[in-house]
Amino acid sequence: MQEKNERYKKEYRTKYKQDENKKAVQKSRCPYAKKCGGCQFIDMPYEKQLEKKQKELKALLGKFARVSPIIGMEDPLHYRHKVHAVMGYEKGEPIAGVYQEKSHRLVRVDQCLIENEKADAIIQSIRGLLKSFKIKTYDEDSDRGLLRHIMVRVSHTTGEIMVILVLRSPILPSKNNFAKALLKLHPEITTIVLNVNDKKTTMVLGQRDIVLYGPGFIYDSLCGVRFHLSPQSFYQVNPVQTEILYREALKLAKLTKKDKVIDAYCGIGTIGLIASRQAGSVLGIELNREAVKDARENAKHNQCKNIEFACADAGEYMVEMAQEGEKADVVIMDPPRSGSNEAFLSSVCRLAPNRIVYISCGPQSLARDLDYLTANGYRTERIQPVDLFPMTVHCEVIVLLSK
Ligand code: SAH
Repeated sequence: MQEKNERYKKEYRTKYKQDENKKAVQKSRCPYAKKCGGCQFIDMPYEKQLEKKQKELKALLGKFARVSPIIGMEDPLHYRHKVHAVMGYEKGEPIAGVYQEKSHRLVRVDQCLIENEKADAIIQSIRGLLKSFKIKTYDEDSDRGLLRHIMVRVSHTTGEIMVILVLRSPILPSKNNFAKALLKLHPEITTIVLNVNDKKTTMVLGQRDIVLYGPGFIYDSLCGVRFHLSPQSFYQVNPVQTEILYREALKLAKLTKKDKVIDAYCGIGTIGLIASRQAGSVLGIELNREAVKDARENAKHNQCKNIEFACADAGEYMVEMAQEGEKADVVIMDPPRSGSNEAFLSSVCRLAPNRIVYISCGPQSLARDLDYLTANGYRTERIQPVDLFPMTVHCEVIVLLSK
């Protein structure tokens, strides 16, 4: 580990010496950086990125408590295990890429420094097969063509790989031969799913999945719990750091077998299922029906018997719980980037848990929500940032509050 760290440090030092000396800025290490815009920090040494995030979080959250040193990634490249490519044309050739930031212009990307390399190779292979199978990529303006997106999900722990081809219509010409040709190039693919998206929409996935090869899902594990991932499942993109994030969060939660825990905004139940081993009971609350279905299946697979899930708006559900006089010992909450809302936060205060563990991917909304909680009987004990998104401006933060 130490050796690897040193190697990365050295690599960065040599590559960015010029930059650091504020001499002529050298060419970006990513050939697509200017057009893509996804990795705002790609040309900043990783240590500097961490320093910058630390400083910004301190300015934003320092008034609540000391901000512990951010936990960075040992190897901050190729960490994304879910890769999404938009398909299109450039000079008559099919291309795979991303939409330019804040625009709808497709930028060709053959290899990305933060994406899983295997996933990128698979996408390029598919692109290479399109012509001989006479599969046209989709054109948004004319609403013609077939292949809209490719998504690849690589399991970090089992090595299973799911390929999702998002199509405008359910019919893929010579689909079985296409699957055969792709599997010949990449025998490591364990399942291929056709997803039908026939709407003129910016949403990537449509509602219908047709399994072309394999079981139609993959498994991945986090902190020793196995998760069933279907094409529609929400799942963190950086498994290495997610495991660290959850471990830190649960360390702060200090659960005991007496504790009644709420996992609000629980997705497919990841945090709650891991927590259920240390807790008395867990209730997961999640709005998305598909995610709740996954969560219940995951509980069954892992033989977790002390966990239940409610499909509801977390705020509304907890208001009802509070009205019925229910209590909770610990509330773990992991809302979307926009944060929580007053209905939810006020019901948390009425349920009066001893500890709240707030996991946030939006530090601005976190600061707003902490203002509310600290004005209503809670004290901020710990602030622990974890870098889930190296090379980008984004960062995840765990906050422990106690009554
Ligand atoms: N804790 C999970 C998911 C976090 S993402 C994980 O770590 O994987 C945030 C989740 O909140 C999403 O699954 C989203 O569907 C859900 N969500 C958004 N608004 C919600 C609401 N009002 N009530 C309940 N869940 C909500």
